[in-house]
Amino acid sequence: MTQLETRVTDGAVLARESDTGRFLPTEAVSPHIAARRDQVAELLLYAEKTYEEIGAELGWTKATIAKDAVALGLERTRPGPRPKYPIPEPRKCGNPDCTEVVNPEPNVAARGYGNFCSIPCARRAAPGRVRARARELRTEWRRRADEEIARLNAAGYMTSRQFAAKRGVKESTVSQWISRGLLKAERRVIEGEPHRIVARAELDRFNAEEWPRICRRMGPRFPSNWGGERRRTWSRRLRAAVVGKLGGPKLKYDCEQATAVHRVKGTYPSWGPDRIAEVVNKTIRRAKPLTPKQVRGILARPLDELLEKLQRQTSGVAA
Ligand SMILES: [Zn+2]
Repeated sequence: MTQLETRVTDGAVLARESDTGRFLPTEAVSPHIAARRDQVAELLLYAEKTYEEIGAELGWTKATIAKDAVALGLERTRPGPRPKYPIPEPRKCGNPDCTEVVNPEPNVAARGYGNFCSIPCARRAAPGRVRARARELRTEWRRRADEEIARLNAAGYMTSRQFAAKRGVKESTVSQWISRGLLKAERRVIEGEPHRIVARAELDRFNAEEWPRICRRMGPRFPSNWGGERRRTWSRRLRAAVVGKLGGPKLKYDCEQATAVHRVKGTYPSWGPDRIAEVVNKTIRRAKPLTPKQVRGILARPLDELLEKLQRQTSGVAA
């Protein structure tokens, strides 16, 4: 059998077809590649070298060696450096109260909470002495930070948190003012924590110039540029919490009238609202006589509930 005439184009091996003379892709591997693959297989299997090491040794790139490994069926599932630590077995979290299974990735020992599922678990399981020391350090850090802030206050500055408390807004609102340029603040790292500090003069300027503008724009009720459907939607949403608690529309009759209506209906159950209204209006004279519709409303609810509401209404207290 004669050696096929081959040619390599873009890494693909082409072989000349005997009858047509054309070069076509072939499964055949050119001899120099086959020779290299023998060496690669040996180094992969017996020397356990990485693609990079093999490439350096044979004078090829890592990528070529990787392709060879794939062609040989010897590719590593995890290319790259070998794990620094042995791949650990899954095990229960070191915190006895925790049921999580710890199945860390290789190299997790380098992350520092090896036997635990999380840092909180590792902390909880730490010996009391360690926890106490950690608390001590936190307290000490807090004390130093407070001292630094007190010094700043004495020098006429306040932190954005203090500013927010003074202005009665959230800290995030103050951040927004700062980022929109409404409030000038300086960055200052206090005990490793980033802070924005505001000078007292800037507070006075803000109160005089920006705050009235913000109030006009944002409230006290809805922002002044809200109108139409948006305003109605929000007004309904905000009112939803008090619907039914305010007691609905004011009743235009009194206890005496309501009691009379119930009494008449009790005595003459067959009477309709028109007749009851007529009879009650004859005995109890008011500037505005009862209407049949009001009689229907009175009879629709228990008398004691109605009287309670009427009393609240006359004493002027909304529930
Ligand atoms: Zn845990």
